Amino acid sequence: MKTIIEPFKIKSVEPINFTTREQREALIAEAHYNVFLLHADDVLIDLLTDSGTTAMSARQWAGIMNGDEAYAGSRSYYRFETVLKELTGFSYVIPVHQGRAAEKILCSIVGGAGKVIPNNTHFDTTRANIEYSGARAVDLPVREGTQPEVIAPFKGNMDVDALEALIKEVGAENVPCCLLTLTNNSGGGQPVSMKNVRDVRAVCTKHNIPLILDVCRFAENAMFIKMREEGYANMSVRDIAKEMFSYGDGAMMSAKKDGMVNTGGFLALNNGEWAERARTVLIVTEGFPTYGGLARRDLEAMAIGLEEALDEAYLTYRLRSVQYLGEKLKAAGVPILEPPGGHAIYLDARRFCDHIAPKDFPGQAIVCALYREAGIRSVEIGSVMFGTTNASGEHVGPAMELVRLAIPRRVYTQSHIDYVIEAIVNVHERRHDLRGLRMTYEAPYLRHFTAHFEEL
Ligand SMILES: *Cc1c(COP(=O)(O)O)cnc(C)c1O
Repeated sequence: MKTIIEPFKIKSVEPINFTTREQREALIAEAHYNVFLLHADDVLIDLLTDSGTTAMSARQWAGIMNGDEAYAGSRSYYRFETVLKELTGFSYVIPVHQGRAAEKILCSIVGGAGKVIPNNTHFDTTRANIEYSGARAVDLPVREGTQPEVIAPFKGNMDVDALEALIKEVGAENVPCCLLTLTNNSGGGQPVSMKNVRDVRAVCTKHNIPLILDVCRFAENAMFIKMREEGYANMSVRDIAKEMFSYGDGAMMSAKKDGMVNTGGFLALNNGEWAERARTVLIVTEGFPTYGGLARRDLEAMAIGLEEALDEAYLTYRLRSVQYLGEKLKAAGVPILEPPGGHAIYLDARRFCDHIAPKDFPGQAIVCALYREAGIRSVEIGSVMFGTTNASGEHVGPAMELVRLAIPRRVYTQSHIDYVIEAIVNVHERRHDLRGLRMTYEAPYLRHFTAHFEEL
């Protein structure tokens, strides 16, 4: 059979709300043209993020009922710890309520003024936590990673020569750790090859720098390795994931992604001294180390979700359904970042709206148009999210202007996706009518969440 189907059936349904174009015109204006400020009930198909939007399985919901809500030493914690130690091989496992809590705790150990922390591409909260600690966050993607139209198997890789050069420039003593994000979310959900993980490991070993993996989408990354990297076709995704983990000195994860839960995460470390300091911060800011700010039932759901994410029938369906959206858009002439990533399709806003300058936020114009057209919520990943203004008042944008359509796990069917394709193709046909925007309010950190805009 050629057709790859959803490897599940639906037991519980949730209605979605239809609105008229007129209503959406008013709603987007009230939200200051920032889709983060919309009420979710006014969104028909929500592709804002794949984070925490997963449909949990019957097994996970059963696990929730089985959760042991003891404050200390919960059975659910020990189940979670056992699953994670077996999967990752790391000695110390610290639960947290979501990924950025792990980032904050890590930064409280390794961050601070004068420190420099490289990554293939920092996710927005990772960068914010590093900068908030006073350290500098440096992105070192491979060249093809910033060229949306180039097709390559592992565009999420880190530029290993650039890593060497950075260490030489700032001194290894100022690089408290190196991060590597699998898959590279801000770089388009592109995978990192096993060879690249090994090469980065080698540079870190040479300079005695700990390597911490950001493994939000470790299962999708492992599946890409199985499909694309020589020598891995016959290995199980679980064993590939284990090999990836084996090159790290630790990992942090937002389990709202490949943990298949609505909230949760962890920081895993081999260094006992770091783990002790991390637990101290955890107790002050998150909770006792056997729950880390979560309900214990959440640990139970996470333990089950981490296993389900490695199911190869699920991963085949997952990667194929994202690729399907990309293929149809490309066939209709819509410019996308190629090849399709694991969790999302990214529209190339620079080519989509070549009449809108980066300083006028072409991606945000597309995001607003998709909401107006069909009630679809997407997110800008470009000058709104990462742009700054230099000393002479000029706009400095990131390498790419993207609009991300993130696909929640196990939530939407193929006809939902067909509807999304139709809407994007319609907007693309009328793209010359789109106008840029002006930002009228911004917060000092992570401005895209709360910014206000006016249409030009
Ligand atoms: C989502 C994400 C984070 C942050 O996790 P939260 O759960 O949103 O706090 C960090 N890194 C990457 C790569 C992510 O995708």
